[in-house]
Amino acid sequence: MTAPAEGAGGTPGDSGPTDADWAAAVAAVRGLSADARVLMICHVNPDGDALGSMLGFGLGLRRLGVRQLQATFPGPPELPESFGWLPGLDLLVPERAAYPDPDLVICFDAASESRLGDLVDRLAVAGTTLVLDHHASNTRFGRIDLVDPHAAATSVLAEGLLARLGVPLDAEIAACLYVALSTDTGSFRFDATTPAVHELAARLLATGIRPGDISRRIFDTRPFGAVRLFGEVLGRARLDPAAAGGRGLVWTVATLDDLARYDQPPHVLESLIDSIRVTAEAEVSCVVKQVAAEEWSVSLRSKGAVDVSRAAVVLGGGGHRFAAGFTGRGSADEVMDRVRAALDGALLPA
Ligand code: AMP
Ligand code: MN
Ligand code: MN
Repeated sequence: MTAPAEGAGGTPGDSGPTDADWAAAVAAVRGLSADARVLMICHVNPDGDALGSMLGFGLGLRRLGVRQLQATFPGPPELPESFGWLPGLDLLVPERAAYPDPDLVICFDAASESRLGDLVDRLAVAGTTLVLDHHASNTRFGRIDLVDPHAAATSVLAEGLLARLGVPLDAEIAACLYVALSTDTGSFRFDATTPAVHELAARLLATGIRPGDISRRIFDTRPFGAVRLFGEVLGRARLDPAAAGGRGLVWTVATLDDLARYDQPPHVLESLIDSIRVTAEAEVSCVVKQVAAEEWSVSLRSKGAVDVSRAAVVLGGGGHRFAAGFTGRGSADEVMDRVRAALDGALLPA
């Protein structure tokens, strides 16, 4: 996702994996037999961090000699074209083809089991389960959890584990991890962009990957139909100055009919929030994307005064303090009424 201050949440003392957690994760990988089946799963509707951390880590497992290795995610297997060049895509299988009884399941960038869709059943049958994530709301659903709410991206944890496994970074692994890191830091703009993030970026760039090419493919390429669709959907954005405790809310709605008129797939709308959240007069931004007749995928962003993950959790979703989402039901107006009510309960202390 593209989200401000990703990973900025977390409770005091929530300082990430312990040495014992890392050791358990290393042992789980090192202990795999030669014929072990490893299934990697990332969250539904994968973003750059979900996909990049999964494929980058998968390429590392392949370098270690893991032969039976699959990567998957719930829902339709199609990916946005912007990811169509990623190294390691040959690891991907549709969810229906995923090993029914893997020896090891590794989950990437999923805060809870609900983000795994129907693939959640693999957790119970797997020999062991390993969770790599950085959401403050992570429910620790793995047998081994490498969860660091202060990490800028799940790829930080993926790289940490690869390093402990002795897998050197190469250009293919680095390209995947760079996509993940640049996605979740908003191209190194959000507050989660620590010195350690830049040090990791430096190690990735040292493999020879080209950041200009990668950024253009991931962030700056869009079909003309999507450009015109954005124009229309942005043109009907609304500003509610009284919302979010008077700090202001900017929002818009995109319907399936909008997508059909411009002949665009739903995923083109994922970056729409980045064009909305620039609004100076609004603390919070919201995009309501139609999924079915009475079902909406809702994205929320905050500039810092509102904990949108708190609002999203109240509404059945989750995320980070300043970037969150949920699935809303009913009409778009009903969903927006619920968003306004939830935001009023999500103001952070000044
Ligand atoms: P998005 O607006 O889709 O880019 O998502 C922003 C953040 O909210 C991401 O970190 C997601 O993990 C989280 N998120 C989005 N939708 C949901 C959902 N339905 N349930 C839980 N978390 C969500
Ligand atoms: Mn994600
Ligand atoms: Mn992430």
